[in-house]
Amino acid sequence: MGRAVWLNLDDCKDIELNYYHTSDGQRLTQSQINSRYVQAKKGARQDYWCNSCGKRQAMDCSHTISQKRCKELHKTELIWDEANWSWDCRTCHEIWEGYKSGEFQNALNFVKRMKYIQRRDREGFEKRMMWVTDPIKIKEIERS
Ligand SMILES: [Zn+2]
Repeated sequence: MGRAVWLNLDDCKDIELNYYHTSDGQRLTQSQINSRYVQAKKGARQDYWCNSCGKRQAMDCSHTISQKRCKELHKTELIWDEANWSWDCRTCHEIWEGYKSGEFQNALNFVKRMKYIQRRDREGFEKRMMWVTDPIKIKEIERS
């Protein structure tokens, strides 16, 4: 038997009003986003070695610009942009997300990921750059 779930009218309105915007002005619901993302992953080439550390192990699809941030930027389409993904092992995925350790700058694809952010999320880029200490990598990023 199902459990009774009480929703008042305000809750229903909130659910309906949760739209996320794309750069070209589309408004999408979370379930539309999920289905675009699932479709994109089906068609994508998946690597079997971690893009960040090179080890062969089970992979996560790690977003360079997080899904949450893509929505905030009104660039929701970046969620299913393959160039915004890194196939990472769980450890590297966590390192990328917890970037304040600065450890994320050791990733093999670090410069490439930073350049991706730089062109699409200036504020997010500056925030990460504050934790980058390797002068060679800073130069590489600035050269672009
Ligand atoms: Zn890894």
